[in-house]
Amino acid sequence: MSHIAFIGLGNMGGPMAANLARAGHSVRVFDLVPAAVAHAVEAGAVAAKDAVDTLAGAEVVITMLPASRHVEGLFLGEQGILSHIPAGALVIDCSTIAPASARKVAEAAAARGLSMIDAPVSGGTAGAAAGTLTFIVGGDDASFDRAKPVLSAMGKNLFHVGASGAGQVAKLCNNMALGAIMAVTGEAIALGVAHGLDPRVLSQMMAVSTSRSWATEVCNPWPGVLENAPASRGYTGGFGNDLMLKDLGLAAEAAMSVGASIPLGELSRNLYAMNSKAGNGKLDFSSVVKLLSGEK
Ligand code: NAD
Repeated sequence: MSHIAFIGLGNMGGPMAANLARAGHSVRVFDLVPAAVAHAVEAGAVAAKDAVDTLAGAEVVITMLPASRHVEGLFLGEQGILSHIPAGALVIDCSTIAPASARKVAEAAAARGLSMIDAPVSGGTAGAAAGTLTFIVGGDDASFDRAKPVLSAMGKNLFHVGASGAGQVAKLCNNMALGAIMAVTGEAIALGVAHGLDPRVLSQMMAVSTSRSWATEVCNPWPGVLENAPASRGYTGGFGNDLMLKDLGLAAEAAMSVGASIPLGELSRNLYAMNSKAGNGKLDFSSVVKLLSGEK
């Protein structure tokens, strides 16, 4: 069992830290939101007074923050935590951030003799709670091997996709496809409903037909179709629209850097930008269906 520092206890980090504590690891946690720390303590973690205070005796340091600027802000610069991380600790950033940002922080860690991997996740808040996340890892073989026992306490599928930053590239590919699939699934259900169909029956049919996906089966965008989906609780507690918008922006940057064409990815990015402007930025990204159904 390891001594783990865990920073960032939001929709994903909270349940991930809880699963580490449940697995018997000693977990010291910090988040800017005190209520998030209190939840993790209820699950068996120990509250630290700030990010640096999580690092006492840490063998593994895990971060789960919103975006590149948060990760760079936490690790780098004069106030950055890199200089406080104990020698020999493994750093695992699970946030979804720009590949270039992941490489920049990993290089700064290496300059201090620390190994760091990017390990963004897929599986949503349900996967985080159930400990069934998919981890998509970029980094060297030795660091991946060291991370496996810790990642296994939070997920069931571990993929090592390449060197530093590669985990982020693969994650962006996944989320670009997800963004488009969610939007078109919402569009299809809205079309059926406009023709008088029952969204539940339509979704059940789609979930066993050729358009089946995570959007039909697990995170259906139509309220009332799936009891446990964010749509059925006012689109709260899922994967925020603005986080999807961030990922699609990162995918667009990644596409430009190699001259790739991503017409559906760009179209999806605009849809989530419009949904954000409509005031739904903090809601689950499946709320994009509101744009298509005319619901306010
Ligand atoms: P969130 O906004 O719910 O949580 C982020 C947490 O980080 C917040 O509690 C915030 O207070 C904390 N934080 C920010 N800066 C901090 C700092 N300097 N020190 C300590 N705490 C700090 O976001 P989330 O939904 O948990 O997502 C986290 C990351 O995981 C994002 O990069 C997101 O794209 C990715 N992700 C999310 C999901 C999902 O379904 N929610 C799925 C896969 C990947």
